[in-house]
Amino acid sequence: MFIDSHCHIDFPELAARMPEIRAKMAENAVTHALCVSVDLPDFPRVLALAEAYPNFYASVGVHPDYEDTPEPTVDQLVALAEHSKVVAIGETGLDYYRLEGDLEWQRERFRTHIRASRATGKPLIIHTRAASEDTLRIMAEEGAGTDKGGVAGVMHCFTESLEVARASMAMGFYISFSGIVTFKSAKDLQAVALEVPLDQMLIETDSPYLAPVPYRGRVNEPGYVAHVAEYIAQLKGISVEEVAAATSANFFRLFSAARA
Ligand SMILES: [Zn+2]
Ligand SMILES: [Zn+2]
Repeated sequence: MFIDSHCHIDFPELAARMPEIRAKMAENAVTHALCVSVDLPDFPRVLALAEAYPNFYASVGVHPDYEDTPEPTVDQLVALAEHSKVVAIGETGLDYYRLEGDLEWQRERFRTHIRASRATGKPLIIHTRAASEDTLRIMAEEGAGTDKGGVAGVMHCFTESLEVARASMAMGFYISFSGIVTFKSAKDLQAVALEVPLDQMLIETDSPYLAPVPYRGRVNEPGYVAHVAEYIAQLKGISVEEVAAATSANFFRLFSAARA
């Protein structure tokens, strides 16, 4: 069985096709999916999916790329995370690639999420792009990792260097690979995936974006996470069953509020 540890199936292009999406998951042995929140106004539709289907879970958080959206407070995130199907805080983090200018608000928002994670005991889903140095610094300052008594989490849709992966794993964080790892051009990332141990790895689609080969360029969906697992199995020279078993066990170890 495979688990999609990060998707946005509440987005209209996917939500409108839910029966088809669930059928594709079943066909590809994708048993569970974590539907990740990007802002507070849309959080109810994320939660509604997790409430409607036993094998969907939700997170609560505000994505670093969302500029004109209500800023969350720690108390607000903590209250929303009390729901039993909310298994994580995020996605949060830093993105200096998509936005420019004074991004102090992004760093403040990130700190708010780390504090909510510590207050709830629910793990962080971290998005980092062109900002790894500040991401790791703020994680350390706010005590995000298990090495600092924090809760750990996942570096989602990982595209950074092996050094960043190692620093994150030392803080107790998992490294999640998306369809990007299957792209022909992603040689550096494939080298990183080769080094990340199976027991610290998750897989995801980040759908509707980033469909893996052979669906590259199409609308992505949770069922396609099986192709990410197959690629990693090939890369590591192990069976796809081994990748499936390890990443699924990791999912339930990290997101301990999720029940199989
Ligand atoms: Zn992201
Ligand atoms: Zn995402």
